[in-house]
Amino acid sequence: MAGRIPRMDRKMRLRTLPKIGDVLNHPRIAEEIARHPRTLVLEAVREAVERARSGILSGEDSASDLESIVDEAVAAIVLKVRRSLRRIINATGVIVHTNLGRSVLSDAATAAVAEVASGYSTLEYDVESGERGSRHAHIEELICRLTGAEAAMAVNNNAAAVLLGISALARGGEVIVSRGQLVEIGGSFRIPDIMAESGATMIEVGTTNKTHLRDYANAITVNTKLLLRVHSSNFRVVGFTGEVALTELVELGAAHGIPVYEDQGSGVLFDVRPFDLPYEPTVSEAIAAGVSLTSFSGDKLLGGPQAGILAGRADIIHRLKQHPLARALRLDKMTLAALEVTLRTYLDPARALSEIPTLRMLTMPIAEVRQRAEDLAARIAGACDGRFEIEVLDSIARAGGGALPMADIPTVVVALTPVSGGVTELERRLRLGEPGVVARIKDDRLLLDPRTLSDSEIQLVAEAVVRASSSGC
Ligand SMILES: *Cc1c(COP(=O)(O)O)cnc(C)c1O
Repeated sequence: MAGRIPRMDRKMRLRTLPKIGDVLNHPRIAEEIARHPRTLVLEAVREAVERARSGILSGEDSASDLESIVDEAVAAIVLKVRRSLRRIINATGVIVHTNLGRSVLSDAATAAVAEVASGYSTLEYDVESGERGSRHAHIEELICRLTGAEAAMAVNNNAAAVLLGISALARGGEVIVSRGQLVEIGGSFRIPDIMAESGATMIEVGTTNKTHLRDYANAITVNTKLLLRVHSSNFRVVGFTGEVALTELVELGAAHGIPVYEDQGSGVLFDVRPFDLPYEPTVSEAIAAGVSLTSFSGDKLLGGPQAGILAGRADIIHRLKQHPLARALRLDKMTLAALEVTLRTYLDPARALSEIPTLRMLTMPIAEVRQRAEDLAARIAGACDGRFEIEVLDSIARAGGGALPMADIPTVVVALTPVSGGVTELERRLRLGEPGVVARIKDDRLLLDPRTLSDSEIQLVAEAVVRASSSGC
């Protein structure tokens, strides 16, 4: 068989195989030991020597000299010391991409995180009195200002907010919810499960496609503690459908002295219709309609860090703050810093649109996206002449994160068809690169959507494509 070593030569090859000590003394490995934990370097060297030994024993004619083993060990060290949670570039056009970390923080929010992380902070300290303060204080007034709510707080995420809200208001009692809203939001967030976990009994009313006010009214008993409405974030029921308007539910709740809680999911703070997006009820609208409590995510359309924001009546928020779960689900200082700055940015809506990446990507005019796509295509063409067929095509981007499910957001992509080598191999190499780039494949083309790229990432993507294309262009 070609490339195999005769049995007799194997013994000789084994004898000349470099010892671990020889490899460790090599200047390039010594350099790695100076920079990285010795245990990881040693492990990589052992593995490289071991691979060479088994290669010889199995008769493969692979390189087993010192330089080759050092090369192998250095390549392995790069992978061992590389951070697991690291930056990746999102060229998918899915704006709130849950697997890629949902919202990108604004520069100001990022700076605030670094500041409170690298020093002591006013987390629970009131500088006026010199005494203990509340961590809710940093965000409560801002949320109230932006939504019109009397009081507010924030916890780990919206799933935690729903768990806290139902536990505090309805444990041991009944919660009425429409069958059309018993949703699953991906992963393991399902309304019936959260209800069970909260110790409340779920009373389902209506049908999958239609629920009437009388369905709620007929289900009210002395044990009813809460009327719950859940936003159908990630799907739409179309056709012969109907849900009860929030104002009607609020009236019903008021007549019986039962609070109404609306889980809003994505949490938009302003009307997105002027940006050619479908109507999405805002948090202020829910508060103005009279809900007792509403909650929404910090990292979906709000564009901040992972958090669950609860806003509503002062007496209800007070109860939530006192609940033992509030302590278990509380936010850390870095998240609070990012959330405060993101909310502050909203005080000036024009600044919010230009500085909060999620909002900027969502509302970027198509002409600007097209220009960015042409810029990216030109950079790739300049460096990779003839390696790809390069097209600039109209396509569809998505809000993602279970938000605006029906919104086809027009976008313009760069479509690459490699002249040699497959498109799936190109996609794989981009994903594994440094920095990695996540792209979509459609109709045997690799699609790069500049709507979800920052300005500086356009050049990085062009460079990554150059590296990933088979002969490096
Ligand atoms: C996304 C969503 C949740 C879960 O929010 P997380 O912040 O991901 O925990 C809950 N309810 C609705 C309606 C949602 O859209």
